[in-house]
Amino acid sequence: MGKKEFVVFGLGRFGKSVALTLADSGCEVLVVDDNEEKIHDIAEYVTYAVKADVTDAETLSTLGLRNFDGAIIAIGENLEASVLVTILVKELGIPYVLAKVQTDTQAKVLKKVGADMVVFPEKETGIRIANKLVHGNFFDA
Ligand code: ATP
Repeated sequence: MGKKEFVVFGLGRFGKSVALTLADSGCEVLVVDDNEEKIHDIAEYVTYAVKADVTDAETLSTLGLRNFDGAIIAIGENLEASVLVTILVKELGIPYVLAKVQTDTQAKVLKKVGADMVVFPEKETGIRIANKLVHGNFFDA
């Protein structure tokens, strides 16, 4: 079985951390961001780093995304861009699309246009940490 291939759109703290961890775990990782510095900083750690606007369908169509196993959409507050790229990757047939969201409305919209899973990193981490505090196992890990 070949290496799993993932594409990460957006290199904020979440997207960068997902991309580096996937690469560290032996996956092929393509990252896309329109910020030159972010692309430059991550380039040596991932398979392929591309500076592009994720809403540019023509550029995305040149990236050979069709056979990727999963896409991670992590482009912050830009809901329009998240919606567009979610639709594009689903149209290309990527089987698993995970989107980072900040609000219930964003979650609803992105699921509606095809995201297989949405995550609220800050909210979910807050709940996990509060539960650890309540159950007294905060220092276990
Ligand atoms: P985090 O909390 O994980 O840091 P965030 O939700 O606050 O993330 P940002 O820090 O704004 O998000 O990061 C979003 C990333 O997405 C940035 O690196 C930005 O350059 C990139 N980005 C935003 N819009 C586009 C776009 N249209 N095309 C490509 N990249 C984009």
